[in-house]
Amino acid sequence: MAPPRRRRRSSRGAGRDDAGSDEPPTAEPRPQAEPDAAAEPRPAATGHRTAEVEGGFFQRLKRRFVADRARVKVASLAGEDVVLRLPVDAATLLAGGSRKIAITRAAACPCCQDGGDPDCVCSGVGRVKVRETVRVAVPAGARSGARLRLAGKGTAGLCGLPDGDLFLVLDPAPVEGFRREGADLFGVIDVDARLARAGGVLQVRVPRGTVRVTVPAGTKTGRRFRLRGQGLPVWGGQGNGDLFLDVETC
Ligand SMILES: [Zn+2]
Repeated sequence: MAPPRRRRRSSRGAGRDDAGSDEPPTAEPRPQAEPDAAAEPRPAATGHRTAEVEGGFFQRLKRRFVADRARVKVASLAGEDVVLRLPVDAATLLAGGSRKIAITRAAACPCCQDGGDPDCVCSGVGRVKVRETVRVAVPAGARSGARLRLAGKGTAGLCGLPDGDLFLVLDPAPVEGFRREGADLFGVIDVDARLARAGGVLQVRVPRGTVRVTVPAGTKTGRRFRLRGQGLPVWGGQGNGDLFLDVETC
């Protein structure tokens, strides 16, 4: 029974819907079962349904492809800024310093420049990833979240558009033993109870070494000493902050 029917279908061009009357209803999945096709308006003539649905689908695909390509083209020409976190150690926080940083950036392709040759090593993008070492001067007194700008060290711009910048967001180390507020530092000074009663001089450790602190007679817990200029360098300004020490007798 099977061979003659197959031959008959092929001779008629094997339209999917045309074969429907001979087949059990569940033999083949119909286009209307697809969610994508259901969104498209249906033509009245069911005989052409398959062709219409596929046409709509490919048209949408083409539109989307063209739109994506246009968007990528516009976005990719401009150089983009890059933001990186830069940890700052205690020594650099106190005195400032020069740091070398290894970065990977999208530089202009040296072979095709702005041409975007599809056969180029950059696959027509116009940029290649390069590993670079940049040197950056980190001023003293780095504030958390402050940004250093390295002009032109972001993503390369194409077709004459400027390169993006690299922004380094500073993340300074805490100052051990002290709480920081801007350039000011806050800590605790332990004073022996006898020395606190009689008064005397103490050597106190501060971020840049030690200083001598005179403890007046009768000093009690909670008294605050202010050591001017013993805090951190003022970020973007002159001089140093102060160091505050709260007495705790023991
Ligand atoms: Zn290239």
